[in-house]
Amino acid sequence: MQSNLTDHHGRTIDYLRVSITDLCNFRCIYCRPPEGVKLIPHDDILRYEEILKIISVSKKLGIRKVRITGGEPLVRRGVVNFISRLTHEIGLEDVALTTNGSKLDKMARELREAGLKRINVSLDTLRRDCFSAITGVDDLTGVMKGIEASFDVGFDPIKINVVLLKGFNEIDIPEFARMTVDRPLDVRFIERMPFGNDTEPINSPDSFGAAEAIGIIEKSFGSLIPLDRSPLDGPARMLRIKGAKGRIGIIDPVTGHFCPTCNRLRLTARGSLRPCLLGPLEMDLRSLLRANPDDSQIEAFIKAAVMAKPASRYANLRRMETGMNTIGG
Ligand code: SAM
Ligand code: SF4
Repeated sequence: MQSNLTDHHGRTIDYLRVSITDLCNFRCIYCRPPEGVKLIPHDDILRYEEILKIISVSKKLGIRKVRITGGEPLVRRGVVNFISRLTHEIGLEDVALTTNGSKLDKMARELREAGLKRINVSLDTLRRDCFSAITGVDDLTGVMKGIEASFDVGFDPIKINVVLLKGFNEIDIPEFARMTVDRPLDVRFIERMPFGNDTEPINSPDSFGAAEAIGIIEKSFGSLIPLDRSPLDGPARMLRIKGAKGRIGIIDPVTGHFCPTCNRLRLTARGSLRPCLLGPLEMDLRSLLRANPDDSQIEAFIKAAVMAKPASRYANLRRMETGMNTIGG
């Protein structure tokens, strides 16, 4: 069924990213604003029941794909049962998860059995010291085990998300690219989105651009082959090392132009719909939800959020005010 959600700019919205918690067991340097994170009072976080309600109404409107994110989604109690209800009760076929990988070693199998199809693991370096410096936690081994466990239980595709961090992971890039040669793995390099003051240029001195990452890879592996993009690739441009089983993805929110293909809405852990990742607008769906609405009121709210999507981030080019841990990336 075609989605009924089309925005003012002709884009069909069929993808909802859902942050189920702002809490995380890592403290990645690029994820939280410098002044630190204010924890959300427990009652302000949507209950699973409420999230399921929003997703079930969204599905009626044409949302086909849901990605569970956070914070770290696997630290929220009851997440496996929640995913199982999404796939079995609501009947969503395409449920994916983004995780830092630290809990996957133990949870991969039950997540798979709950009906989770696809998994993205965030991993920015393959060196232990650097991993600790970026995440604040000495757990590279745990994450690597989590990736292996995901292979073992049959997640397909498995995507590794690498944020490009100047001074940290330039030297890891060829090794990450090499991981795609023998395994059907997608490694996706993501430009870092900065925090801070709107008057500063958006290109942060501690990030580097997608073009530079491609240059580093091509130095080691020769020219990359551009691939056709499938709807599952989202905003990523996909490339392949000649003869490789896996693929390399480039996500360039800072230097690129991917807004014309944007197909998504975001639901924050506190129950606001966010029409644009980089835009300031958050629409408080939680208050409506807690006032016993009927489905048509929730539908109207979701449609209004779709209509509030800007044509592009250039309409509101800005640095992020909130941490990704609340928005969900
Ligand atoms: N904790 C999970 C994880 O790390 O995968 C899910 C939440 S995390 C906020 C989702 C994604 O956002 C991760 O892939 C992370 O690398 C990315 N992210 C966080 N802060 C970012 C930033 N400033 N720029 C670009 N990507 C960022
Ligand atoms: Fe946690 Fe993910 Fe943010 Fe890292 S990127 S601090 S793992 S929410």
